[in-house]
Amino acid sequence: MTRPSVAVAGAGIAGLAAALALSRAGHPVTLVERRTGFSEVGAGLQLSPNASRILVDLGLGSALARRVGEPRRVVVRDMARGRTLAEMPLGEAMRTRFGAPYWVIHRADLQTILLDAVRARPDVRLVVGRTVEDVEETHGGVALSLARENGTRETLRADLALGADGVWSKLRRAVEGPTGAVPPRYQGYVAWRATVPRDAAPEALAGDETGLWLGRRAHVVHYPVAAGALVNVVCVVQRAEPVDGWATPGEASALRAALPATAAPLAALIDAATGWLLRSLHDRPAGRMARGRVALLGDAAHPVLPFLAQGAALAIEDAACLARGLSAAEVAGAADGGRPADPIAAALAGFAAARAPRARRVQDAARANGRIYHAGGPIALGRDLVLRRMGAAGMAERYAWLYGWRDG
Ligand SMILES: Cc1cc2nc3c(=O)[nH]c(=O)nc-3n(C[C@H](O)[C@H](O)[C@H](O)COP(=O)(O)OP(=O)(O)OC[C@H]3O[C@@H](n4cnc5c(N)ncnc54)[C@H](O)[C@@H]3O)c2cc1C
Repeated sequence: MTRPSVAVAGAGIAGLAAALALSRAGHPVTLVERRTGFSEVGAGLQLSPNASRILVDLGLGSALARRVGEPRRVVVRDMARGRTLAEMPLGEAMRTRFGAPYWVIHRADLQTILLDAVRARPDVRLVVGRTVEDVEETHGGVALSLARENGTRETLRADLALGADGVWSKLRRAVEGPTGAVPPRYQGYVAWRATVPRDAAPEALAGDETGLWLGRRAHVVHYPVAAGALVNVVCVVQRAEPVDGWATPGEASALRAALPATAAPLAALIDAATGWLLRSLHDRPAGRMARGRVALLGDAAHPVLPFLAQGAALAIEDAACLARGLSAAEVAGAADGGRPADPIAAALAGFAAARAPRARRVQDAARANGRIYHAGGPIALGRDLVLRRMGAAGMAERYAWLYGWRDG
């Protein structure tokens, strides 16, 4: 039985995860990436149990085990004085509660593992150096217009198309219609990202844990990556104007000036980091996720502010949900022409209906976290009180809806 062929635009985490999941389900996949190299900007990613469970199911467990960290806990502190406000156990507690680990990983490691897995699949064709400019439905399929940098154009045909082309998606318009052309909005936050060799980090912050520091109009997250060799540091500060570009170099001194008062170990961590890169944070409520034989996933469908560490996790969930939906028995026969109506479009509509509410909920929760993390004055005092009272178990349960997600 021939499974429908899939063209995927974009080989980020969403596109790679989708290509792998679909290929494992028997679909021939063409994965088109505009870049020619696969360097990753920004060092770290947290992979909560809702995502790690899927990656393990995709057969990546042992490759990941060699590169991930599994912090024992998250420690929440106030930025100015360094007081501990709350702790949430991770490690074994997450495995016990949610049946999967809470990992941290260097982005380059995750990308390499996904890319190696995709390259090992004979039914995935990876086409690099081509930008997908547009997609349109043809009789019983889709046609994607690809452009090379030298201006050469070509057409790629498949049974269906997926837009995994990130926050500035070109395929969004084919799904959402004219609103798809409305660009994501700058949300008033800039993320500063860098790493510190673990032995250069202050001892108090070089342990096997995730640190979250809350300050007025700013917060900082750090955790070990690269199998413990580096500490990944992300500082998010509020700023009226976005910065230009996606990886704009910045100096630690400018970051320190943009941050409120900072407790000594955190200041030392920031000073120890080199190679700071800045990126403005954009957001856009999840809109329509499928139309006919075209669907969106990952940041193309629902960019998420990083205050819940869920953008990549949602992309991985999308990939699993798509592969399952398309593999349903009625879809399997579609390419043979043996089914009524259009089962592929129906499967994509089912995917969109399942995913959009969850994506919106995660987007909303991330925005709310941003407001809470960056609060000052009486709101911050109230937040700190609630955090202290909530206790470790209360904090974990607060996210049960998120980390406990399972497909189907
Ligand atoms: C500071 C920060 C921290 C974060 N931390 C976390 C975290 O801890 N955990 C988590 O889960 N998420 C986190 N995220 C979110 C996560 O990084 C993103 O949600 C995720 O990388 C999105 O993946 P994607 O594949 O959808 O998009 P992208 O990574 O943007 O990939 C899109 C790909 O498509 C290619 N492309 C674009 N346009 C075209 C085109 N027209 N044709 C062909 N190819 C194209 C691009 O070159 C790229 O390779 C964080 C984000 C930020 C900014």
